Amino acid sequence: MKQLVLFDIDGTLIRHVGDGTQKWMRRIRTAAKEIYGVDPGDFESTPYHGKIDRQITWMIVEPLGISRSTFLEKYPAFADRFFGQLLDDPADQSLYEQIPDAKQLVDILRLKKEICLGVLTGNMERIGKWKMTHSGYDGLLPFGMWSDGFDDRFQLAKAVYEKANAFFHESFGPDNTIVIGDTLSDISCARHIGAQVIAVTTGGHERKTLEDEKPDLLVDSLMDPQVLDFFHLSKI
Ligand SMILES: [Mg+2]
Repeated sequence: MKQLVLFDIDGTLIRHVGDGTQKWMRRIRTAAKEIYGVDPGDFESTPYHGKIDRQITWMIVEPLGISRSTFLEKYPAFADRFFGQLLDDPADQSLYEQIPDAKQLVDILRLKKEICLGVLTGNMERIGKWKMTHSGYDGLLPFGMWSDGFDDRFQLAKAVYEKANAFFHESFGPDNTIVIGDTLSDISCARHIGAQVIAVTTGGHERKTLEDEKPDLLVDSLMDPQVLDFFHLSKI
C-alpha cells in the first residue's frame, strides 16, 4: 500500500534566516496599513504559529475594528501587497533556508516508490511555492495542499484526501497518511483526519508542549533513527 507523507513548511522544512520573523511582521504591518487602513503595531508572532495565512490576518485586523465582510473583500489586495513585498526586496533573498535534516529525509523518501510526497501548509499557494523555490525544494514535494480559501487548519486538512487522491490517482486515507510538522496545529489537524503524525522540535513549539499533544513520534531532528524506523527505512 502506498503512503502519503505530508510535510508542513515553516519550522519543519525551512526556517527563517536572521531577523526573518521581524521582516514577516513588517510585511503584515505594511499591508494592513495600506489595504485595511489599520496599524497592528509591534506584535508577537507566537500566537500565530501553526495558523494559516488568511486566519492570521483576520486574527490581527479584527480587533482593530475591521468587519468580516470588509476583511474578505479586501483580502486579495492584502495578499497581493504581502506577496509583492517578498518579490520587491532583494535584501530578503536569504529570508528562508532549509532545515538540513528535513531536506535529507525528503531526499531519502523521494527514492521510495511507495511513498508520495507533498506539503500540507498554512501558506497560500503562491507564497508557499515562493518559499519552496527560494529555499531549494522546488519540485521535490510534488503535491501541495495550500491554504487559499480556508480559514483554519482543520478545514484545510479535511480537504486533503480528495485533492491528493485526484493528484496521485491513489486512495489515501487515515490508514496510509502521515503528517510531519512542528506545531500543535499540525498534530491536531492530523488527528482530525485520522492520520499519523510525526512532530519535530525545529520550529515554534517546545518539546514539552508538543509531547502533551501526544504525536505518534516526537523528535528533535527528522534524521533521528526513529523516523527512519517509522517508515521502515532503517536499512537505507
Ligand atoms: Mg510550521
